[in-house]
Amino acid sequence: MDLIQELGLEVYPQFTEGKKVHHMGGANAKISTYTSSIPSFSPLVLLDFVHFMWRLTQEMELCTRSVFGMEPSQLSFLYFLMYSAAAGGVMRLLEATPGSAQEFRVKGGTQQLSERVAEQLGKENVRLGSAVTAIWQREETVEVKTTMSTITCKAVIVTCPPHMAAQIEYRPALPLERLRLARCMPVGHMTKFIITYPTAFWKQKGFSGEIVAHPSIHCPFGVTFDATSPSGSPALVGFIAGVQACYWNSREMEDRRDAVVSSLVKYLGPEAASYIHYEEKDWAKEEYNGGCPVNVMVPGMLTFYHPGLRKPCGRIYWAGTETATRWCGYLSGAVQSGQRAALEVLADVSPAVLSPSELQEVRADLTRAPSDLSQVWDCNRGSASSSRFLIGLTVMAVTVGGAVFLLKPGLGENCLSRVLAVIQK
Ligand SMILES: Cc1cc2nc3c(=O)[nH]c(=O)nc-3n(C[C@H](O)[C@H](O)[C@H](O)COP(=O)(O)OP(=O)(O)OC[C@H]3O[C@@H](n4cnc5c(N)ncnc54)[C@H](O)[C@@H]3O)c2cc1C
Repeated sequence: MDLIQELGLEVYPQFTEGKKVHHMGGANAKISTYTSSIPSFSPLVLLDFVHFMWRLTQEMELCTRSVFGMEPSQLSFLYFLMYSAAAGGVMRLLEATPGSAQEFRVKGGTQQLSERVAEQLGKENVRLGSAVTAIWQREETVEVKTTMSTITCKAVIVTCPPHMAAQIEYRPALPLERLRLARCMPVGHMTKFIITYPTAFWKQKGFSGEIVAHPSIHCPFGVTFDATSPSGSPALVGFIAGVQACYWNSREMEDRRDAVVSSLVKYLGPEAASYIHYEEKDWAKEEYNGGCPVNVMVPGMLTFYHPGLRKPCGRIYWAGTETATRWCGYLSGAVQSGQRAALEVLADVSPAVLSPSELQEVRADLTRAPSDLSQVWDCNRGSASSSRFLIGLTVMAVTVGGAVFLLKPGLGENCLSRVLAVIQK
């Protein structure tokens, strides 16, 4: 948000007023609507949800202390939800709530962030259409070979996602931990679509435009939001992600579009069929992107290799949203990582321009103690605490349920006297 302000851009809030549609549990499950931040779950699902949040908090505390070397109070629970790939389902339910990734939209689009930063750098200093193919480190300098030319410099910040960075040729070769990171951080698969309408009929019918659906062979998307422009052009935006992206992207565009439209008709009404234009983008088909929205770590990577994500390799420094310690996978994470990498380069190349506190911050991050594996390696801890929690909940539910039943006039007394009679017998 600081950068948005600095660049003279404006944001407007994501429209969330009205009914949200919730359809999980398969094609035959009931379609429900709600107006709060999360849907009204059944008591059992709510118990499961509470348990999930409790487990996640426990994991967050362990992870922040032993892996990141920070105190849990430094991270908010909501942030951790965003950070955790495990929380994908909850994330979808919370995405448009205050403090989440979809809370604001940038007027005119987020590409203006790159465009305005490029203007500040001077467009003649930004070389587009020249992919980096090799980075060779010499004694005093580093050579960056692109498809167009070779540039000699003092330091390089590599900002592309780990799987793209792995395609560059490095001399000397990168350390093993860095190579493993690139190979063990698969990138997600997501298609984004925007569908425009003559009127925002969903608003007129009291819907917010937010749908959380169980993607299936009938419904390609997992989530949609209102995407009406600040000037009032009505639109919905949606995402086809993960397994669904694999399935639906093997079909023709017309099939996907028709399935999107018929699902919107099912959730929002027949007006959804009268769209103006459908546009989609499969990010996996972008040559220099290969997928989106972020590379995720396979189990164990965070514990063992996360310092390698940011640790400079000689004159090569690493940025990009995957290296962020907050809002990893989001625009804010990309900006945070860029600022951190810039400080690292300055600390090495011209430390005099940094204040003592900035220098201290950079060095503290680079020399942070490695993960405390003794805490992480307690394999039984999770299942034992989980069982304790479930037993506790069951005892509580039985006690409360029993008390309510027994205290209910008539029924309870009758039952109580029968129980007492059995005991007497
Ligand atoms: C469909 C979609 C929706 C999203 N929605 C949101 C949202 O609502 N909110 C949010 O905060 N974030 C969202 N994100 C995530 C956000 O876009 C990313 O987190 C952010 O763009 C990451 O920035 P980055 O600079 O780390 O990487 P990128 O934006 O991926 O930039 C990496 C750049 O490196 C270039 N590159 C790759 N290889 C080479 C090479 N060899 N040589 C030269 N250049 C190379 C690529 O072309 C690319 O321009 C979304 C992403 C997608 C795809």
